[in-house]
Amino acid sequence: MAAKLLTGKEVAQKMDQDIQKDVQALKTKGINPALRIMIVGDASDSVFYANSAKKMAEKNGIMCEIEQLPGTMTQDEFVNILKQRNADRNIHGIIVMRPFPKQISENVVKYVLSPEKDVDCFNPVNAGKIMAGDMTGFPPATPQAVMEMLRFYEIPMAGKDAVVIGRSMVVGKPMSMLLLAENATVTVCHSKTKDLPGVCKRADIVVAAIGKAKMITADYIKAGATVMDVGINPEGDKFVGDVNTDAVKETASAITPVPGGVGTVTTRVLLKHVVKAAKLQNP
Ligand code: NDP
Repeated sequence: MAAKLLTGKEVAQKMDQDIQKDVQALKTKGINPALRIMIVGDASDSVFYANSAKKMAEKNGIMCEIEQLPGTMTQDEFVNILKQRNADRNIHGIIVMRPFPKQISENVVKYVLSPEKDVDCFNPVNAGKIMAGDMTGFPPATPQAVMEMLRFYEIPMAGKDAVVIGRSMVVGKPMSMLLLAENATVTVCHSKTKDLPGVCKRADIVVAAIGKAKMITADYIKAGATVMDVGINPEGDKFVGDVNTDAVKETASAITPVPGGVGTVTTRVLLKHVVKAAKLQNP
């Protein structure tokens, strides 16, 4: 039997409903949840991403301002502006777009952004909170989107064997911690893992976050497993995942499509985090 497609649209719609309800509740208390997206320079990818996030935020009743700063500004100038945004009580969440122009160091700026407003886990304090199981933190949007999808589709995690392929700070590592927090038994794989197909084949849940188009074939998947495909890889004029969906769909019981899967949910996670930040800042 072909695997069930775990599409992101339904998850995103449900999240929109929940976000809008929470935003209304905050507004009745006089709190207007607000997101600030900061861009230094004019990288077209950053501007495109920020505009689409703004549209989605506003659709959900969240105020969103894009602050585009000159690409020639010094690190000190940017740090000063960021500190002012940290201190602004009318801004609840801040996203700082990367990459920066070369005169600005990511390693400096990430410690300046207030962890309380860092809705996309840029400040290492938020990465640490995931490790500590501190629920006041903000995990990165992509692994959190995978968790939203697993919960929405009621995929059992407790006691299950989960394999995460990839160990980046934005996806693989936090993903493993989030699954562990749900009591899965987690194995993290990477480019030096021996017998990757054999390790994956033991898993009830496979999360592929590799960045290699269609690398995961049926040889990696146990019959009945759930496959969460995080990969976004250009192929011709479209994008494909890290999983060869056609090859895997007869073996897996459920799989996320690319496009239309995990990526559809990530911006909603950021908006959910803005709402959470607004609540935490107004106890
Ligand atoms: P990185 O390049 O930072 O990390 C890739 C990871 O995959 C590394 O840990 C690497 O291992 C591992 N890896 C690479 N090749 C192999 C291999 N042959 N076998 C086993 N492991 C391997 O990528 P990201 O984590 O940033 O992103 C992963 C994918 O997810 C990309 O396709 C990216 O486009 C996509 N992505 C999707 C998002 C979404 O919203 N859906 C958001 C962010 C990313 P090692 O550490 O040993 O080098």
